[in-house]
Amino acid sequence: MTTARHGPKLLILGKQGSGKGTQGARLAAHLGVRHLATGDMLRAAVHAGTPLGREVATVLAAGELVSDELMLDVLDARLNTPDVIWHGFLLDGFPRTLAQAESLLERLGPDGIDAAVELELATEIAVERLLARAREDDRPEAIARRLALYERQTVPVSALFDRLDVLLRVDGNGTPDEVFDRVRGVLDPVLWGTDSAVG
Ligand code: AMP
Repeated sequence: MTTARHGPKLLILGKQGSGKGTQGARLAAHLGVRHLATGDMLRAAVHAGTPLGREVATVLAAGELVSDELMLDVLDARLNTPDVIWHGFLLDGFPRTLAQAESLLERLGPDGIDAAVELELATEIAVERLLARAREDDRPEAIARRLALYERQTVPVSALFDRLDVLLRVDGNGTPDEVFDRVRGVLDPVLWGTDSAVG
């Protein structure tokens, strides 16, 4: 579908523990775009005990990926709300596979996305952060599984956006404020033109 969209169309990529959720929420608030975090959507469905939640609960607990078909259904419903079409979006946790990335680009039409920010962080540091946050699906086996899946399935996704010349790589080390400043430093010129990079 090629609905005329108004606001920025952004992605945030990075392995689990890279600070993607924190930076995604901050960035979305800063830009006034909708933060569409697929993991949050799925966890909310599990907690609410909806049919979708019952279907995905065991997949989430194991650290496996939900099927592309199911994920796209969930996402389509959000991408096509007037609110998201008007304000723009920051996708967080999607696309996680090449198939999801290609489906997204098909849905967005020729303009695709404006920028994909990738937070880079060494796996050992990501694991330390994940073990410290103690989310219910953050058992060590599930963490290891998700990090392995990231390498296998999501690295090709960032390579695709790199080829499309919209990938912005950012060092994910440091405090949330430091990382946020770096993200703004690379993203603002893309969104508002090179003048905003000065000062
Ligand atoms: P996250 O909060 O992004 O770490 O996602 C938590 C869990 O939700 C993942 O481990 C997957 O089981 C599922 N999930 C989130 N996004 C996706 C996606 N794009 N494709 C498949 N599964 C997903």
